[in-house]
Amino acid sequence: MSENKPTPELGDRDRKRCPVCGEPSYSTAGVHPQCSVKQADAERSQNLKESRLAGEANQAESKSTGPSRWQKVCPNCRAFLHVRKKHCECGHPFATKSQA
Ligand SMILES: [Zn+2]
Ligand SMILES: [Zn+2]
Repeated sequence: MSENKPTPELGDRDRKRCPVCGEPSYSTAGVHPQCSVKQADAERSQNLKESRLAGEANQAESKSTGPSRWQKVCPNCRAFLHVRKKHCECGHPFATKSQA
């Protein structure tokens, strides 16, 4: 019972397959010319998209409702303060546990 042998399409295996679209390619490079163009475009737009996404993520982070790494939230007035501030402008003191 060996029904699961990989269905060989005779003649096809000698053909190069285009790494972009996966279709057999007859060109010597093995890549359809239009596919290599498409791939270059895709890479370019992928890079663009990623850098744009990264930029958006950074923006979202700074715009987000949570405090940044160097910020803390005043539990009294919910203002974002620099972590090193010892008092909020509302008067709430941030006592560090080590030095009471
Ligand atoms: Zn192709
Ligand atoms: Zn406050």
